Amino acid sequence: MTVKGKACRNCRKVIEEGSNCPNCNSTAFTTFWKGYVIIVKPEQSEIAKRMGIKTTGMHALRLSR
Ligand SMILES: [Zn+2]
Repeated sequence: MTVKGKACRNCRKVIEEGSNCPNCNSTAFTTFWKGYVIIVKPEQSEIAKRMGIKTTGMHALRLSR
């Protein structure tokens, strides 16, 4: 399954359009990322804690570049 979008280099949030990250307002993105998690409740998610994610939505697991 292919997901369109680009991942924020700062917080890994994946967005489909726009030039600023809605989470951290960063403009540094990469389209080279692999895997993703969808965080619904960051405060209750072990994955979110481990990855340091504090916001909801789709986040890239690995950034390639
Ligand atoms: Zn971000």
